[in-house]
This record gives sequence, C-alpha cells and structure tokens, in this order.
Amino acid sequence: MTDRQPDAPAIPDDAAQRRAVPPVICYPSGNLPRPDLAGYRAAAERAQKSGEILIPPREAGCFEVPAGHVFRITCTGGPQVGDLNLWNPHDLIERFYSGKTRALHGSHVSEGDRLWSGFPHLRPMATILRDTLGWYGIDAFGGAVHDVIGTRCDPYSGNLLAGTQYHHCCHSNLTRALAGHLGITPAEAEPHVHDVLNVFMCTGFTRDTGQYFMKASPVRPGDYLEFFAEIDLLGCLSACPGGDCGAEHSSDAAACFPLLVEIFAPSRPPGGWQIPPRNGYDRSHGAG
Ligand SMILES: [Zn+2]
Repeated sequence: MTDRQPDAPAIPDDAAQRRAVPPVICYPSGNLPRPDLAGYRAAAERAQKSGEILIPPREAGCFEVPAGHVFRITCTGGPQVGDLNLWNPHDLIERFYSGKTRALHGSHVSEGDRLWSGFPHLRPMATILRDTLGWYGIDAFGGAVHDVIGTRCDPYSGNLLAGTQYHHCCHSNLTRALAGHLGITPAEAEPHVHDVLNVFMCTGFTRDTGQYFMKASPVRPGDYLEFFAEIDLLGCLSACPGGDCGAEHSSDAAACFPLLVEIFAPSRPPGGWQIPPRNGYDRSHGAG
C-alpha cells in the first residue's frame, strides 16, 4: 500500500458500488462473556499493595501477579510509553496474543477489554479495570491510546532500515529482563518475547496509505492503566526508548522516564469470580 505501482490495475465500472458495501463487525463484542467490572473494582478497592517495581528508562523489568490480584502501570516523571508482555508463569507457551485481542476488542484497548492468550488456550489473561486516558477516544488523525496493532521496537528492523546495532529497543529490553528473571540466556529468552500491548502509546493507521503511525502520547505523570489478573501472570514491561514516541524510537535521542508497576492483593476475590478455564474446543481439527 505504500508505493503504488504505475501500472496499477484498471478500475472496474462498478468500483464505487463494490466499495459502498457496508462493513460487518467480525466479532461482535456483545457475544463475548462480559467481565463483572463492578465486582472486580470493588475487590481492587479492598486491596493492599503487595509489591512494586520501577522500570528504568530504556530498560525492562519482570513482575509476577497471582490470579485474582491487581496490577497498575503508572506514568511517573514525564510522558513515557511502555511495551507489555504477559505469560502464564507455569507454561510460557501460554502468552498474550495481541492479534486476537485486536480482532475481539479493536485496535486499541481500554476499560472492560481483556488481554487474551493464544491458541489453544484463548482465555482472558487480564481485564482492564481503570484507564485514566479512557477520555482520549479516537482523534482527528485516527489515533488512539494503548494499541494492540504495533509489535514492539526491535533491533532487527533498525538494522534492516538503517544498518544500526542498537541494544535498548523494547524487544531487547524484554529479552534481557526475561533472561535475568528466569536465569536463562538471552538466546533462550528471545523466542518467548512476543507482540506487546503498547501501554500509553498513541497510534493509528494513515487513511491515505494505511501506514502505521505514532504521535506524542497524551499520557502525563499520574496517569495509569490498571488490570485484574485472571490467571497467574508473569509480566515484563519495557520503558520504550522512544519516550512519548512523538518523534523517533530505536535510539537514545528521546527523553525517557521510569514506569512504575504496582501489585495489589485484594482481601478477597470478586464474588463469583473463578480462574477462566482453557478454551473448550476439542482440538481434533477434524482429523478424526
Ligand atoms: Zn519500544
């Protein structure tokens, strides 16, 4: 879509008619099981802080959250974007699936949306309880906050496009932090790093060329995104070298700030809540 060929295909006579066909929502959100947000929030209000980690700029850090507990990511010194990975700590193969989360909830997530794990599990890993940027909506450029459309900044794309060797992209930060947390090598940790939730990042696709864009995040110190852990979680958060991602990433040029992760233990779980079961599909795939 970025570079149209001069010998583009001929436009058919009924092009306008075909383009005018109205879209159909692939996964109507009304069909999804709804979380009891009020019950979750009541449990969160009964919670005591049980731990915290401050993620330094251009670094990442790991944290564990038991099922039924709450964690909160807060902007501290200045506008800063974070790249979040989530795993089931008992089985790292079960991890956050940004693509299906996008298909189920949309390109950007907020209160009441859930972060889903990949196949064959496909169950909610976390539910968003509070989003102080929930007011932002979709701006005039088509931008919105907390996307599940980007991947993560990485040294391979920088090398491909500019021949660089930069070591503090989110991909590398997540890899180093996970390796340190698990006591394994970066080479062993790297395959576990996956597409992220871009916390606080403001992104969209240009209307004319369909290209992924970013713009300075509207996040300010004190803003936070708060989650309810549906299963035991191992999280890893990178404070992106792009800072507010208003200009560039994959370098040390941007002003960057720490991100705070706090974990809270409710005195009792939400009424009626249970750890979600793994997906019920029988996995025979029609093979008999
Ligand atoms: Zn990044």
